[in-house]
Amino acid sequence: MDHNHIRPWRNIERRKSRQIMVGNVPVGGDAPISVQTMTNTDSGDAAATIKQVVACAEAGADIVRVSVPDTDASAALREVCRESPVPIVADIHFHYKRAIEAAEAGAACLRINPGNIGDATRVREVIKAARDHGCSIRIGVNAGSLERHLLEKYGEPCPDAMIESGLDHIRILQDNDFHEFKISVKASDVFLASAAYMGLAEATDAPIHLGITEAGGMISGTVKSAIGLGNLLWMGIGDTIRVSLSADPVEEVKIGYEILKSLGLRHRGVNIISCPSCARQGFDVIKTVTVLEERLAHIKTPMSLSIIGCVVNGPGEALMTDVGFTGGGAGSGMVYLAGKQSHKLSNEQMVEHIVEQVEKKAAEIEARSAAEAAE
Ligand code: SF4
Repeated sequence: MDHNHIRPWRNIERRKSRQIMVGNVPVGGDAPISVQTMTNTDSGDAAATIKQVVACAEAGADIVRVSVPDTDASAALREVCRESPVPIVADIHFHYKRAIEAAEAGAACLRINPGNIGDATRVREVIKAARDHGCSIRIGVNAGSLERHLLEKYGEPCPDAMIESGLDHIRILQDNDFHEFKISVKASDVFLASAAYMGLAEATDAPIHLGITEAGGMISGTVKSAIGLGNLLWMGIGDTIRVSLSADPVEEVKIGYEILKSLGLRHRGVNIISCPSCARQGFDVIKTVTVLEERLAHIKTPMSLSIIGCVVNGPGEALMTDVGFTGGGAGSGMVYLAGKQSHKLSNEQMVEHIVEQVEKKAAEIEARSAAEAAE
């Protein structure tokens, strides 16, 4: 990313991939790395699924996947696709008819492995439905469900077996002259997933969907995903990501974004820089940051805010942020704006005042970019 020319040690050179469309979201090429999640409602319950899709989209999801295991889910999918503010990927396993129904219902992408749906006629029918309805396809190889012949050949799930599986599925699509696909090779083991993705990145120019599957609960899954996805993204691999957690999909979206934000690959909302706090703190840092995270969750404009307990690190961090507050003595602290010391403020007024300042700054940034876009 050349905007880091002043700090070249922050550059990430992305692997060159083809670009495909998932509905109106470009994936691959120079498109921003998109964040996905998957609903966990009963997909036959359109209202509950739409509610969750909307919540995920509000949290920043660019694309949402919905599983389509039966005809009830197929029927509800039409409504979900119509009401969703973001493109919907229909997750199909073996039932080729569900894939055709999903394409007809308005899914933007089908997650299906063409090698798993039966004979060549069925494959052709699914590809025709995808083509007729403008759907892309995601091939999703998973270490836990590799084809039997590959397990026999390789002895156990390993990177080579996963890559071979992926390339076999790719070949089926290419033989049918279908090129609007992306691919994932997920595993719950970080080493296995990383090695498979690295090999895949060499073997194809298709856009890559990254994920560490069945990563676990909030804490362990977040750490595992941050290491697995973070490592690959840092190498420039990955065009769209999904963090899989045994948790609310909205949390998956937030964590996906945090991973991209940490690597400077995407920016959204307020990046709060805060200290862990210690006996030197001039106010309750932890409580304040918890309240501010909640109060500022609606801000989508990328900007930064430093909330630092005392002058040891406060002024230094404030230098680099749009808005800052540093704790001082006698129940008050210092507000920084655009890196410069601005005015003193009592701790009691701080949350309201900081929220106001951040909202004001966000409005300024938005107005500036609107003016630039109009030029
Ligand atoms: S910035 Fe100050 S309050 Fe925060 S952890 Fe460091 S020394 Fe403690």
